[in-house]
Amino acid sequence: MSELGRYVRQTRFSLFGEEGQRRLRNSSALLCGCGALGNMMATILVRAGIGRLRIVDPDRVELVNLQRQILFDEADATQNRLKVEAAAEKLRQANSQVIIETIPLRATPENIEELSDQVNIILDGTDNFETRFVLNEFAVKKGIPWVFGGVLGAEGQVMPIIPGRTPCLNCLLHDCPPAGLDMTCEMVGIFASVVGVIASLQAMEAIKILSGHLETITPRLTVVDLWNREIRQIDVSNLRDRVDCPVCKRQHFRFLESRTYPAK
Ligand SMILES: [Zn+2]
Repeated sequence: MSELGRYVRQTRFSLFGEEGQRRLRNSSALLCGCGALGNMMATILVRAGIGRLRIVDPDRVELVNLQRQILFDEADATQNRLKVEAAAEKLRQANSQVIIETIPLRATPENIEELSDQVNIILDGTDNFETRFVLNEFAVKKGIPWVFGGVLGAEGQVMPIIPGRTPCLNCLLHDCPPAGLDMTCEMVGIFASVVGVIASLQAMEAIKILSGHLETITPRLTVVDLWNREIRQIDVSNLRDRVDCPVCKRQHFRFLESRTYPAK
Protein backbone atom coordinates (compact mmCIF):
# COMPACT_ATOMS: atom_id res chain seq x y z
CA MET A 1 0.00 0.00 0.00
CA SER A 2 1.31 3.46 -0.89
CA GLU A 3 2.01 6.03 1.79
CA LEU A 4 -1.37 7.62 1.13
CA GLY A 5 -3.21 4.30 0.93
CA ARG A 6 -4.38 4.36 4.53
CA TYR A 7 -6.25 7.60 3.85
CA VAL A 8 -8.30 6.26 0.95
CA ARG A 9 -11.65 6.93 2.63
CA GLN A 10 -10.60 10.55 2.85
CA THR A 11 -8.92 10.97 -0.54
CA ARG A 12 -11.97 9.45 -2.20
CA PHE A 13 -13.83 12.63 -1.30
CA SER A 14 -13.24 14.32 -4.64
CA LEU A 15 -13.02 17.93 -3.45
CA PHE A 16 -10.14 16.87 -1.18
CA GLY A 17 -8.47 14.04 -3.11
CA GLU A 18 -4.82 12.93 -3.05
CA GLU A 19 -3.66 16.50 -3.62
CA GLY A 20 -5.44 17.59 -0.44
CA GLN A 21 -3.93 14.67 1.42
CA ARG A 22 -0.40 15.57 0.25
CA ARG A 23 -0.87 19.14 1.37
CA LEU A 24 -2.17 18.00 4.75
CA ARG A 25 0.82 15.68 5.05
CA ASN A 26 3.16 18.64 4.47
CA SER A 27 1.47 20.86 7.05
CA SER A 28 1.85 21.43 10.75
CA ALA A 29 -0.35 22.75 13.54
CA LEU A 30 0.05 24.18 17.00
CA LEU A 31 -2.60 22.83 19.36
CA CYS A 32 -2.92 25.01 22.45
CA GLY A 33 -4.53 22.96 25.17
CA CYS A 34 -4.84 19.20 25.51
CA GLY A 35 -8.14 19.05 27.35
CA ALA A 36 -11.47 17.95 25.92
CA LEU A 37 -11.35 19.95 22.66
CA GLY A 38 -7.63 19.30 22.26
CA ASN A 39 -8.01 15.54 22.68
CA MET A 40 -10.70 15.36 20.02
CA MET A 41 -8.99 17.69 17.55
CA ALA A 42 -5.69 15.83 17.94
CA THR A 43 -7.42 12.49 17.39
CA ILE A 44 -9.04 13.65 14.17
CA LEU A 45 -6.00 15.46 12.76
CA VAL A 46 -3.48 12.74 13.56
CA ARG A 47 -5.69 10.01 12.14
CA ALA A 48 -6.37 12.25 9.12
CA GLY A 49 -2.63 12.39 8.42
CA ILE A 50 -1.44 15.89 9.30
CA GLY A 51 2.34 16.12 8.99
CA ARG A 52 3.24 17.49 12.40
CA LEU A 53 1.26 18.32 15.51
CA ARG A 54 2.74 20.32 18.37
CA ILE A 55 0.68 19.96 21.55
CA VAL A 56 1.05 22.46 24.37
CA ASP A 57 -0.49 21.99 27.85
CA PRO A 58 0.97 22.08 31.37
CA ASP A 59 -1.72 19.97 33.10
CA ARG A 60 -1.79 16.41 34.35
CA VAL A 61 -4.55 13.82 33.87
CA GLU A 62 -7.17 13.58 36.62
CA LEU A 63 -10.08 11.20 37.01
CA VAL A 64 -12.65 13.97 36.40
CA ASN A 65 -11.14 14.51 32.92
CA LEU A 66 -12.08 11.04 31.65
CA GLN A 67 -15.78 11.82 31.10
CA ARG A 68 -14.84 13.90 28.03
CA GLN A 69 -11.10 13.68 27.31
CA ILE A 70 -11.07 10.67 25.04
CA LEU A 71 -7.33 10.04 24.80
CA PHE A 72 -6.88 9.37 28.52
CA ASP A 73 -7.66 6.32 30.64
CA GLU A 74 -7.77 5.42 34.32
CA ALA A 75 -4.11 4.43 34.41
CA ASP A 76 -3.13 7.90 33.12
CA ALA A 77 -5.15 9.46 35.95
CA THR A 78 -3.78 7.10 38.60
CA GLN A 79 -0.24 7.91 37.50
CA ASN A 80 -1.09 11.62 37.26
CA ARG A 81 0.65 11.72 33.86
CA LEU A 82 1.27 14.88 31.92
CA LYS A 83 -1.58 15.27 29.46
CA VAL A 84 0.73 15.97 26.53
CA GLU A 85 2.68 12.75 27.17
CA ALA A 86 -0.34 10.51 27.67
CA ALA A 87 -1.97 11.99 24.56
CA ALA A 88 1.15 11.65 22.42
CA GLU A 89 1.50 7.97 23.32
CA LYS A 90 -2.04 7.18 22.18
CA LEU A 91 -1.77 9.35 19.08
CA ARG A 92 1.47 7.65 17.98
CA GLN A 93 -0.25 4.28 18.31
CA ALA A 94 -3.00 5.57 16.02
CA ASN A 95 -0.66 6.97 13.36
CA SER A 96 3.11 6.56 13.51
CA GLN A 97 3.54 8.63 10.32
CA VAL A 98 2.72 11.86 12.17
CA ILE A 99 5.41 13.80 14.02
CA ILE A 100 4.01 14.66 17.44
CA GLU A 101 5.79 17.21 19.59
CA THR A 102 4.86 17.77 23.22
CA ILE A 103 5.48 20.87 25.29
CA PRO A 104 4.22 20.85 28.91
CA LEU A 105 3.69 24.61 29.11
CA ARG A 106 0.86 27.11 28.96
CA ALA A 107 0.94 29.41 25.93
CA THR A 108 1.87 32.94 27.07
CA PRO A 109 2.82 36.23 25.38
CA GLU A 110 6.45 35.35 26.15
CA ASN A 111 6.55 31.91 24.57
CA ILE A 112 3.91 32.03 21.81
CA GLU A 113 6.42 33.04 19.14
CA GLU A 114 8.63 30.05 19.91
CA LEU A 115 5.67 27.69 20.24
CA SER A 116 4.36 28.77 16.84
CA ASP A 117 7.63 28.34 15.02
CA GLN A 118 7.05 26.69 11.60
CA VAL A 119 3.33 26.05 12.07
CA ASN A 120 0.66 26.72 9.45
CA ILE A 121 -2.28 27.00 11.82
CA ILE A 122 -3.10 27.55 15.50
CA LEU A 123 -5.91 25.57 17.11
CA ASP A 124 -7.77 26.68 20.20
CA GLY A 125 -8.09 23.96 22.79
CA THR A 126 -7.74 26.39 25.69
CA ASP A 127 -10.19 26.96 28.49
CA ASN A 128 -9.77 30.69 29.09
CA PHE A 129 -10.16 33.96 27.24
CA GLU A 130 -6.84 35.48 28.26
CA THR A 131 -4.99 32.83 26.30
CA ARG A 132 -7.42 33.10 23.38
CA PHE A 133 -6.79 36.82 23.11
CA VAL A 134 -3.04 36.20 23.11
CA LEU A 135 -3.50 33.61 20.34
CA ASN A 136 -5.73 35.99 18.40
CA GLU A 137 -3.31 38.89 18.56
CA PHE A 138 -0.34 36.72 17.69
CA ALA A 139 -2.16 35.10 14.77
CA VAL A 140 -3.23 38.49 13.40
CA LYS A 141 0.27 39.92 13.86
CA LYS A 142 1.91 37.03 12.00
CA GLY A 143 -0.90 36.33 9.51
CA ILE A 144 -1.39 32.76 10.71
CA PRO A 145 -4.90 31.23 10.41
CA TRP A 146 -6.42 30.06 13.68
CA VAL A 147 -9.62 28.39 14.77
CA PHE A 148 -11.42 29.60 17.88
CA GLY A 149 -13.54 27.09 19.74
CA GLY A 150 -15.23 27.15 23.11
CA VAL A 151 -17.54 24.87 25.06
CA LEU A 152 -19.55 25.35 28.23
CA GLY A 153 -22.42 23.36 29.63
CA ALA A 154 -24.34 22.03 26.62
CA GLU A 155 -23.29 24.90 24.35
CA GLY A 156 -20.36 25.63 22.10
CA GLN A 157 -19.02 28.09 19.55
CA VAL A 158 -16.63 27.91 16.62
CA MET A 159 -15.12 30.54 14.35
CA PRO A 160 -12.22 30.19 11.94
CA ILE A 161 -10.07 33.30 11.58
CA ILE A 162 -8.05 34.07 8.47
CA PRO A 163 -6.14 37.27 9.29
CA GLY A 164 -6.81 40.01 6.74
CA ARG A 165 -9.80 38.18 5.31
CA THR A 166 -12.21 37.42 8.12
CA PRO A 167 -13.05 39.19 11.40
CA CYS A 168 -10.78 38.35 14.33
CA LEU A 169 -11.85 37.26 17.81
CA ASN A 170 -11.48 40.83 19.06
CA CYS A 171 -13.85 42.09 16.33
CA LEU A 172 -16.38 39.62 17.70
CA LEU A 173 -15.96 40.00 21.43
CA HIS A 174 -14.32 43.44 21.68
CA ASP A 175 -12.77 42.57 24.99
CA CYS A 176 -11.89 39.68 27.19
CA PRO A 177 -14.51 39.02 29.90
CA PRO A 178 -13.33 40.49 33.20
CA ALA A 179 -11.68 38.05 35.59
CA GLY A 180 -14.36 36.21 37.53
CA LEU A 181 -17.01 36.54 34.81
CA ASP A 182 -15.10 34.19 32.56
CA MET A 183 -17.20 31.12 33.36
CA THR A 184 -15.49 27.76 33.30
CA CYS A 185 -16.59 24.18 32.80
CA GLU A 186 -15.58 23.57 36.40
CA MET A 187 -18.28 26.03 37.45
CA VAL A 188 -21.18 25.15 35.12
CA GLY A 189 -20.33 21.70 33.79
CA ILE A 190 -19.72 20.30 30.32
CA PHE A 191 -21.06 17.48 28.16
CA ALA A 192 -18.71 15.41 26.02
CA SER A 193 -21.21 15.57 23.16
CA VAL A 194 -20.72 19.31 22.84
CA VAL A 195 -16.98 18.79 22.81
CA GLY A 196 -17.35 16.27 19.99
CA VAL A 197 -19.38 18.67 17.85
CA ILE A 198 -17.20 21.72 18.40
CA ALA A 199 -13.85 19.94 18.10
CA SER A 200 -15.05 18.20 14.93
CA LEU A 201 -15.99 21.54 13.39
CA GLN A 202 -12.62 22.99 14.39
CA ALA A 203 -10.71 20.02 12.97
CA MET A 204 -12.66 20.16 9.71
CA GLU A 205 -11.89 23.86 9.28
CA ALA A 206 -8.24 23.05 9.97
CA ILE A 207 -8.19 20.26 7.38
CA LYS A 208 -9.73 22.56 4.76
CA ILE A 209 -7.29 25.38 5.52
CA LEU A 210 -4.24 23.10 5.59
CA SER A 211 -5.21 21.38 2.35
CA GLY A 212 -5.44 24.73 0.60
CA HIS A 213 -9.22 25.13 0.46
CA LEU A 214 -9.43 28.65 1.84
CA GLU A 215 -12.40 29.32 -0.43
CA THR A 216 -14.48 27.11 1.88
CA ILE A 217 -13.74 29.21 4.96
CA THR A 218 -16.67 31.54 5.47
CA PRO A 219 -16.85 34.36 8.03
CA ARG A 220 -19.45 32.81 10.28
CA LEU A 221 -19.75 32.12 13.97
CA THR A 222 -21.37 28.76 14.60
CA VAL A 223 -23.23 28.43 17.88
CA VAL A 224 -24.66 25.12 19.03
CA ASP A 225 -26.94 24.38 21.95
CA LEU A 226 -27.24 20.63 22.26
CA TRP A 227 -29.64 20.69 25.20
CA ASN A 228 -32.24 22.32 22.93
CA ARG A 229 -30.71 20.86 19.73
CA GLU A 230 -30.25 24.25 18.13
CA ILE A 231 -27.54 25.24 15.69
CA ARG A 232 -27.17 28.84 14.62
CA GLN A 233 -24.93 30.35 11.95
CA ILE A 234 -24.20 34.00 12.56
CA ASP A 235 -22.92 35.92 9.55
CA VAL A 236 -19.99 38.07 10.64
CA SER A 237 -18.79 39.03 7.16
CA ASN A 238 -19.33 42.76 7.67
CA LEU A 239 -18.06 42.86 11.24
CA ARG A 240 -14.64 44.22 10.28
CA ASP A 241 -16.31 47.15 8.52
CA ARG A 242 -18.54 47.90 11.47
CA VAL A 243 -15.97 47.60 14.25
CA ASP A 244 -12.85 49.74 14.56
CA CYS A 245 -10.92 46.74 15.83
CA PRO A 246 -7.67 47.75 17.55
CA VAL A 247 -6.17 44.34 16.84
CA CYS A 248 -6.78 43.63 13.16
CA LYS A 249 -7.26 47.21 11.96
CA ARG A 250 -4.74 49.13 14.03
CA GLN A 251 -2.27 46.38 14.93
CA HIS A 252 -2.48 47.22 18.61
CA PHE A 253 -1.61 44.09 20.56
CA ARG A 254 -2.60 44.76 24.13
CA PHE A 255 -2.51 41.17 25.42
CA LEU A 256 0.62 40.22 23.55
CA GLU A 257 2.49 43.19 24.94
CA SER A 258 1.03 42.98 28.45
CA ARG A 259 3.53 42.75 31.26
CA THR A 260 0.91 41.86 33.84
CA TYR A 261 -0.26 38.71 32.12
CA PRO A 262 -1.29 36.18 34.77
CA ALA A 263 1.31 33.44 35.00
CA LYS A 264 -0.87 30.49 36.01
ZN1 LIG B 1 -10.38 42.34 14.62
